[in-house]
Amino acid sequence: MQARCGLIFQLIEQFFPLDLAEEWDNCGIQVGDPNRPVDRVLLAMDMDEAVLSEARDKGAGLVVTHHPLVFKGIKQIREDRGPGRLLAKIIRAGITVYSAHTNLDSAQKGVNAVLAERIGLTGIRVLRPANEKYLKLVVFVPSESVEAVREALAGAGAGWIGGYSDCAFMLKGTGTFRPLEGTSPYIGKTGELEKVEEIRLETIIPARIAGVAVKAMLEVHPYEEVAYDLYPLENKAAESGIGRVGRLKEALTLEQFTGRVKETLDLRAVRRGGSGSRRIKTVAVCGGSGGDFWPLALNAGADVLVTGDIGYHAARDMLASGMSFIDAGHYGTERVVLEALAGYLRDGCRQRGINIDIIVSGVNGDPFAYI
Ligand SMILES: [Zn+2]
Repeated sequence: MQARCGLIFQLIEQFFPLDLAEEWDNCGIQVGDPNRPVDRVLLAMDMDEAVLSEARDKGAGLVVTHHPLVFKGIKQIREDRGPGRLLAKIIRAGITVYSAHTNLDSAQKGVNAVLAERIGLTGIRVLRPANEKYLKLVVFVPSESVEAVREALAGAGAGWIGGYSDCAFMLKGTGTFRPLEGTSPYIGKTGELEKVEEIRLETIIPARIAGVAVKAMLEVHPYEEVAYDLYPLENKAAESGIGRVGRLKEALTLEQFTGRVKETLDLRAVRRGGSGSRRIKTVAVCGGSGGDFWPLALNAGADVLVTGDIGYHAARDMLASGMSFIDAGHYGTERVVLEALAGYLRDGCRQRGINIDIIVSGVNGDPFAYI
């Protein structure tokens, strides 16, 4: 089955919800048409002339980048200058560009999660939890239909707590109702009070999927009028957000740990602050530009922060506070997500019976050369 670009956007947003994007960001479609058919998708950190040529050569009608192609307000598209020239070429080539930026950073299986796992951390926690809102969905179901309703809710994304899916609670009780004139009740007779054994089924849902979850529930619930409640919760999204902190299985010296970072992220060079003989057990990571998050890393008990784009003053402040750092580069700490993203999209397409090639750019590299 052939797909349109919009279907790939939906798949991305299912794994990496747009609600997780920072307010200042510009995630989603950048250029093109979601209705265009697509049979090959190219994934890259950034869109540039080299990636555009690669997309043309490889026949990829959709390019998904991490960094947004359009970030600040565009006031002119001048073709005698780099950014305008690139934009015009993309439009003329009929290529669609979509970006998943801070939503990809913050998601449960996004940049920071992949980075933490790649470096070998355990007991991984979020450094700055996202502001996702949660609801408690409670529905009253006749016992013979409870499994169908529970499955429909789980299938719509309800009941995820950390690494556990299908979380729900069921309690048996008695429901009462009196069908009035003009109704066609599933159980009971018009005008007579009915007492029915029902199950109170409750589960947690992110507020953003409330509409989808309620629709899925109503589709399989046998009652004409379904009794359900949605309660706002104070729960924080402990599974998504910026940065991660975790522990090494065995303590390493900062010297040894630096070697591990270089090896696991396949880097030629990193910048480091702190004594090479220092014992490292707790590690904070933040893909991209995470230097400003160092106080959160310190509060989380990190011995070292691994991130990119660390500025001079942040470096000084970290050392003065007793925390070491490794600047593994903006590109170096983020590119690890591309293979993971490719994997999610390949699985998602396979599950839907869609035949789309997902490929990772072979030309998009670090803008910095290490001499
Ligand atoms: Zn970035």
